[in-house]
Amino acid sequence: MSKEKDILASVSDISTESEFFSPVPDGYKQGKTKYVFVMGTVMSGLGKGIFSSCLAKLLQDKGLKVAPIKLEGYLNIDSGTLNPFRHGEVFVLDDGMETDMDLGTYERLLDQDLSRANFATSGQIFSSVLNKERHGDYLGRDVQMIPHVTGEVKLKLRQLAMESKADVVFVEIGGTVGDLENAYFIEAMRELAYEEGPNSCCFVALTYILEPKTLGEQKSKAAQLGIKQLMQCGVQPDIITCRASSPVNEKARQKISVYSNVPFERVISLPDSTSIYLIPSMLRDNGVDFQVLRMLKIEDRINLQKERREWGKWCDFTEKMESLNRQVTIGITGKYTTVRDSYASIINALEHAGIALGCKESIKWIDTTDITDSNVAEFLADVDGIIVPGGFGTRGAEGKIACIKYARENNLPYLGLCFGFQMAVIEFARNVCGMKKANSNELKPGCAEPVIDILPEQKKIEGLGGNMRLGGRDIELKAQTLAWKIFGKKDSVRMRFRHRYEVDPKYIKTLEDAGLVFSGKAPEQPIMQILELPSHPFFMGTQAHPCLTSRPLRPQPMFVGLLAAALQRHYTDENLPDCEKAVQSIK
Ligand code: GLN
Repeated sequence: MSKEKDILASVSDISTESEFFSPVPDGYKQGKTKYVFVMGTVMSGLGKGIFSSCLAKLLQDKGLKVAPIKLEGYLNIDSGTLNPFRHGEVFVLDDGMETDMDLGTYERLLDQDLSRANFATSGQIFSSVLNKERHGDYLGRDVQMIPHVTGEVKLKLRQLAMESKADVVFVEIGGTVGDLENAYFIEAMRELAYEEGPNSCCFVALTYILEPKTLGEQKSKAAQLGIKQLMQCGVQPDIITCRASSPVNEKARQKISVYSNVPFERVISLPDSTSIYLIPSMLRDNGVDFQVLRMLKIEDRINLQKERREWGKWCDFTEKMESLNRQVTIGITGKYTTVRDSYASIINALEHAGIALGCKESIKWIDTTDITDSNVAEFLADVDGIIVPGGFGTRGAEGKIACIKYARENNLPYLGLCFGFQMAVIEFARNVCGMKKANSNELKPGCAEPVIDILPEQKKIEGLGGNMRLGGRDIELKAQTLAWKIFGKKDSVRMRFRHRYEVDPKYIKTLEDAGLVFSGKAPEQPIMQILELPSHPFFMGTQAHPCLTSRPLRPQPMFVGLLAAALQRHYTDENLPDCEKAVQSIK
């Protein structure tokens, strides 16, 4: 048994007599999986998730198996109950877990579906420790932050390592070093690195170099103090990534190197970038990927042929991104109109589709609170297409319905997402089927014609956390419809859901008889999931959130369809492909 293995064996002692306690999952093979820890100093919002996912992508391109995990300090069990205005969008995974928006960045960069194993909050960690305590698992012991709570964190990381069979687990710690709520995560990382032994962990500290306008030079003091704080926690960083508005000069990097025991070549400059998709190449130019491989001693696991192939594909994508020669304007109606993070996945999905079609999209945010049938034309005069995204509650709902009516009557390309799908059904019921009182029981409880009503399974549920109809579901497609065509004429397609309400099945026939086509439904239930209007250039709604599964190199067909129709509307003098042909041209 090697020396490192001895350490792990001794700390795994769970007898009440020993001070060593570090639960290790059965069958865990030490050394198989390496760990990269990413943490931030000086301030939050440095893009730890972006850095971590881009670095993970570079390793994945080299044939390594990577598994990311985000550790959040807050006590919520998941992100489902968080207000997107405060915390950015809630990102729903295929298994139904409601997570932080950073998980979206990982899924997009890695083109990988993640699961609840990739996301942990303090709420989950404490809840699990408290359950074990009640169950008697720590009998005889006082349950402490160290070793029990830190033990639970390490267990979660090692479980992920085992389940994913990853070569490298990327651990991103939310918040900033020095936050009280994250301190025990950093302590757990320190312990894990000790237990796993040399060359098994790599600590990356992101920091920020200030450049006050009045001085006109870069200042590294705040960064130095931030790193010092990390070192006071017993963690020696291996790589320091300096974020800044412009490239970080040698002098500032030298100062940080001297101060932190990190060799100069591992103090990296990472200035602001116009797109996160350009960051993998910045990291590659800095050689961060090979620094990490060397430190973890896994250079022999890489496949350079695969890397050449994958990198070639990525460069084609970024080259296209930098030569977009057409432009359309897409209106997005939304309650959180001032916070772009609330709609991160939609913005990304539009960007992916735009790059594939060689077009840049400018987004016009539309607050619908004051929109009515009589003034809607002014608000939508300069848009080439419109999206009504997901939402909850009544504010601005009537304005959204007015926008949808305008889009339907004026051949303006329309995409309705979840709430936007439901509003399209209400608009159609009112203005085409003549059901003037059509509404949603969410917006007007007890209304006369609740075409949108609560899902039967939701009626029994009490409390508002984690219990919507959540996660990935198959959608059965109706042959010959536009949805069927843009999804490659397949029988079914999988998307992610997050809702409580649905089209009340008793109205389906009336709506269909009047010309609305439900082109996608749940396989075994009468839950309508995609709608379209055949006589319109592009009028589509879905009960799902297709933006969550759009990936840079695999744009989501509904977004491609919307943009293709918007392009046709904008560039009427050119012979541009329709939605179906545009989607086909991408494959
Ligand atoms: N409020 C609607 C529902 O619960 C739509 C939800 C959403 O847009 N995510 O069904």
